[in-house]
Amino acid sequence: MKRAANHDLFRDLPSVDELLRTAEVNALAVSHGATAVKDATRAVLAHLREEVSSGLLDAPALRLALGGIGQAIEQQVRRTLAYSLRSVINATGVILHTNLGRAPLADEALEHIRATAGMYSNLEFQLETGARGKRDIHVDRLFKRLFTDVATDDLSGAEGKSPASSHDISTIVVNNNAAAVLLALNTLADGGEVIVSRGELVEIGGSFRIPDVMAKSGAVLREVGTTNRTRIVDYEKAINDRTRLLLRVHRSNFEITGFTEQPSTAELVALAHRRSIPLMEDLGSGALVDLQNFGVAGETSVLDSLRAEIDVVTYSGDKLLGGPQAGLISGHAELASRMRSNSLFRALRVDKLIYAALEATLLAYIKRDYQSIPTLKIMQLTKDEIGTRAAALAGRVSESAYGSTLSSRLRVEVIDGESVIGGGAAPSSVLLTRVLATTCEGLSADELAVRLRAWDPPIIARVEEGRVLIDLRTVFPEQDQLIADALHRIAA
Ligand SMILES: *Cc1c(COP(=O)(O)O)cnc(C)c1O
Repeated sequence: MKRAANHDLFRDLPSVDELLRTAEVNALAVSHGATAVKDATRAVLAHLREEVSSGLLDAPALRLALGGIGQAIEQQVRRTLAYSLRSVINATGVILHTNLGRAPLADEALEHIRATAGMYSNLEFQLETGARGKRDIHVDRLFKRLFTDVATDDLSGAEGKSPASSHDISTIVVNNNAAAVLLALNTLADGGEVIVSRGELVEIGGSFRIPDVMAKSGAVLREVGTTNRTRIVDYEKAINDRTRLLLRVHRSNFEITGFTEQPSTAELVALAHRRSIPLMEDLGSGALVDLQNFGVAGETSVLDSLRAEIDVVTYSGDKLLGGPQAGLISGHAELASRMRSNSLFRALRVDKLIYAALEATLLAYIKRDYQSIPTLKIMQLTKDEIGTRAAALAGRVSESAYGSTLSSRLRVEVIDGESVIGGGAAPSSVLLTRVLATTCEGLSADELAVRLRAWDPPIIARVEEGRVLIDLRTVFPEQDQLIADALHRIAA
């Protein structure tokens, strides 16, 4: 309904300058900066003018609004100066949730960033000679160590073999795994052909498609086999004098089951060696340890691939590795050094923040301090541990802990559920968990989920079959109470 505007009221509106001269607004300018406060004042006045012209404000209402205009300006300033990127509580149970920032960093990683990035560092500087250094060395030494260490560890008595020699393996770091694949393909196969099975022409996360990355790299995709079956002879027959690389891609977010066939790693390696063509694997998730020990089956590690003598392996830093966003390329030193001298490498290189976080994360692996890497710690939580926390939280919400019947609109039940790893790792591997299945009288499950997301800090949960499911696996224990408070207050 449109009401008539009372144009006389416009005269009651103060000017921007008048407001800026008031003690209240002037004080805001001192603490938040003159420009931000001036902009906020303009915005608040424009809003009032709009309300007057649409007839929403009469004289008494305008007087009231003007009485609180200092506060309105302050709120507006705070809104515009607030961070847009903020922490949220991940109650989805998806451990590596790309939309929620994938792997949370270890405390040591954050401390190392703080200790090196707020000051100058020896990022590319050799302290002994005073000469220019390479930024890679800070982590390459740790990867080398890790690949030797773990090799000797796991090999005690087993039939496996260590990667060719860990000293021949170099690791380079770029922006993400997509960049790693692009750099590797461009370096090794620009202008030539790359053979890939049709069963591995995957799309990951909507914007990473093997055929597209291949096209950008300048390499020509040579598809072989069919979606469900590819044999080693298919690769063999496709090899010609333009072939530069054999590529295997981890399927990551799906599985092909039923009437399927794909060559074993050993067969591919043998073919690559016989024809002197490098074999590359886009591993995607790239675990640095055998995840079997963490209750996750069917995910090969970077070391498995290197030990199988795959020449180049690419993987992400912020998936199973549990570090910062990065793309890692581990492989023969000679191939790595070719990639390092590609000008694309300069365009895709990462900042000191990433080296700091990665170095600290890798050190945790070297110390076997897996508990300090949140991703690995979260993965190891048992259903019982999570169930105990869930029951405690449910008790706090629904019983008398809040000393009132306000929460009686809430129904909270603790039921069996499944957490997933996400990030394209072990798509069919689920981790058993206990979840809080929650409903609130007078709110649909979707509405309850919306309220939780609007909370400070936002709480992200799943909606399933008319209930909001809260999986505490991905919630840090110190956040349990925040969830209890939010549920209680929303129900009230
Ligand atoms: C996740 C994934 C990628 C993309 O990695 P980003 O680090 O997100 O760029 C590429 N390939 C595979 C197989 C993946 O699982």
